[in-house]
Amino acid sequence: MAETLTAPLPPQADAAAQARRTHGRLLSAWGRRAAGRSWRGAARGRAQALLYAGFAWCAAGAVAALIAGASPWTWAALAAVFAAIRAGVQWGEARAGFEAGAQVRAHVRRAAADALAVRGPGFTERHDSGALSSALIEGVEKLDGYFSRFLPVSRLAAPVPLMLAALALWASPAAGLIYLGSAPILVIALALTGMGAAAAARGQMDTLRRMAGRFNDRLQALETLNAFDAAAHERAGLASAAEAFRQRTMAILRAAFLSSGALELIAAAATAGVALQTALARSGAWPFAIGAEGSAQAGLFALLLAPEVYMPFRRVAAAYHDRADAEAAAEALAPLFEDDAATGAAGPAPVITAAPHIRFINAACRYPGGREGLAPLSFTAPAGESTALWGPSGVGKSTALKLLMGYAPLTGGEIRLDDAPLAAPLAGAAGWVGQRARLFHGSVRENIALFDPELPEAAILAAAEAAGVMEFAASLPDGLDTRLGEQGAGVSGGQAQRIALARALAADRKLILLDEPTAHLDGESEQRFIAALTVAARGRTVIIATHSPAVRDACHHVVSLQIRAEAA
Ligand code: ADP
Ligand code: MG
Repeated sequence: MAETLTAPLPPQADAAAQARRTHGRLLSAWGRRAAGRSWRGAARGRAQALLYAGFAWCAAGAVAALIAGASPWTWAALAAVFAAIRAGVQWGEARAGFEAGAQVRAHVRRAAADALAVRGPGFTERHDSGALSSALIEGVEKLDGYFSRFLPVSRLAAPVPLMLAALALWASPAAGLIYLGSAPILVIALALTGMGAAAAARGQMDTLRRMAGRFNDRLQALETLNAFDAAAHERAGLASAAEAFRQRTMAILRAAFLSSGALELIAAAATAGVALQTALARSGAWPFAIGAEGSAQAGLFALLLAPEVYMPFRRVAAAYHDRADAEAAAEALAPLFEDDAATGAAGPAPVITAAPHIRFINAACRYPGGREGLAPLSFTAPAGESTALWGPSGVGKSTALKLLMGYAPLTGGEIRLDDAPLAAPLAGAAGWVGQRARLFHGSVRENIALFDPELPEAAILAAAEAAGVMEFAASLPDGLDTRLGEQGAGVSGGQAQRIALARALAADRKLILLDEPTAHLDGESEQRFIAALTVAARGRTVIIATHSPAVRDACHHVVSLQIRAEAA
């Protein structure tokens, strides 16, 4: 921090400031979702402060009556009424805050899920899955404090002390002046320590995200690490990452303690000043004219206001880390909401009821980072037949399929579906089989139906039969009801691919896209898969990205893609 104050801002800091503005915009856009509730909370907070002033006036009246030897009961009863109403309003304030937070979190979750669906695998490939899931789960939770506490409370910070100081000024001008004088000092102290805490918290979220990403990677590579005896080394690496996290946490706590310490010190000094002033004024020893003529009730009232004058500052200080947390969470979630993927074309996927005819006319793709994904490509995939996209690795076969699904941006040329320009991506309308079938916890049957309870049994059975799942299902312990583990524990790679093929058939997709479906299969499994595919492809348009000669030879048409020297 000290460095950035003396040295000119490095370009990196510029970018960081820019990024922070982006995150601020994200936060305020989300905040607008719950603006009504949030303002209602703030209004109740102000009402509560006024009710407290009423209580303080009556309580001071009761004490003053006691001192004067009169009956305090009317004042005391009034004070109790104010206190009771205030408790109710306080409850309403907390409730409005809670609801605002819940509303924002629900909105962000939905928006994040939509954004993920639009961006598709192209996005998840480029981002580390540990960081993504920690942003989606913890990040969204961390938004809560900001919207439920910090935002409503920060709207009280200026009006409430001013309002109460004005009342104090009326009752006892000296006390009012002390309150007014101490407030700016408090604001400066809060801002200074708060900024430090915010910087520390940002670093902490970063460390946590890196740690989650690293842990995720290492878990997936456990067998490799064990085989090369590298686990011990990795353990040390994780331990030092955890240590760095601990140190950051302590730094945040230090900043937080410092800020609340400073706050309490100033508030206590100001309160003592008011008390002293009141006592001196009452005893007649107060040397200045201001406020010396105040009654016992007015003096006590000014003194009783002290806790409430400083309350908003305390609450902002207590909620300050909520803001830092929310900024860090917005940063983690920002990639999801940046419009880097010009892919989310408008409109729902077209409905495909018969095997379609697909044409690429000089279709090209350049990814958002500037990498060329596919050089202009033209080919026709006739209806009801199978077409192989054949070529070396990196030539853009997968990208061509992603263009159809809307997972990669079409940056040149045109794609036609049944001679009409493709208006919207085909995700949701075409079947998809990737390199490795993603299987879910559940039975073989559920994995084919993808948990769609409305899929008729007959469709599932026919799909399982055509995709060659029945062939091996008979030898599974419970047939189609055999439960599969994560990543398909219980079936081989080739069997898993046939389950994936059955999905496309069960949903009766007339267009099936396959991306290197046999890349991880041995020769025999590949042959079985090709046999199943040949049956499944009848009456459907099939496009397969492959570099397997066996798959290519099983297709009706072959489109050869060639690496071309990329223009500078
Ligand atoms: P193939 O499937 O033929 O092996 P791809 O379509 O996967 O080739 O990739 C084509 C080119 O696009 C490669 O140079 C690759 O690095 C690049 N590429 C693929 N996916 C992305 C992505 N999500 N972002 C940026 N570049 C990408
Ligand atoms: Mg590929």
